[in-house]
Amino acid sequence: MPFELPALPYTPTALEPHMSSKTFDFHYGKHHKAYVDTLNALVAGTPHENATLESIIAATYGDDSKAKIFNNAAQIWNHTFFWNSMKPQGGGAPTGALAQRIDADFGGLDAFKAKFKDAALTQFGSGWAWLVVNKEGKLDVAKTANAVTPSVLGLKPLLTCDVWEHAYYIDYQNRRGDMVQAFLDHLVNWDFAAKNLGA
Ligand code: MN
Repeated sequence: MPFELPALPYTPTALEPHMSSKTFDFHYGKHHKAYVDTLNALVAGTPHENATLESIIAATYGDDSKAKIFNNAAQIWNHTFFWNSMKPQGGGAPTGALAQRIDADFGGLDAFKAKFKDAALTQFGSGWAWLVVNKEGKLDVAKTANAVTPSVLGLKPLLTCDVWEHAYYIDYQNRRGDMVQAFLDHLVNWDFAAKNLGA
């Protein structure tokens, strides 16, 4: 099989109590795995079979006849990026060049958090909230629907939070805002964002 479910960067209990091992059982073990299994079935025997995930995402975006392939490929990529956007004892404040960019482009960490949370809460239905570098080269917040991933919009992702219901329903039921707040205060991996920024 060409695509594999990537290993988690920490154990499934490592983000408790903010994100439970039961959530990982379903969100990683069922949802993320299902995207991998489905993509493998969809690309078997096609020219996409030996392509990279990134090239499949770029080649199929906006093509209605390839929507299923795009959705599963992008969801594999987005979930791997999401697991890496968190870490045990995360949260706190960024440092160095990333902190300076957040101050310059958002007016401070609290203003960034407010904008990110607003994007996460106003994404109607399933989707993702992102910290990105926009087309003008500035840090910005974006929200995307369903499987859409920033690269197809010309944006460079630094961090993401999954706001599909399956991301929070086990631990927070309908309280999406509480999950996003826990992500920002206790889970976010600023080192990963800094690495993606190249800072
Ligand atoms: Mn998800």
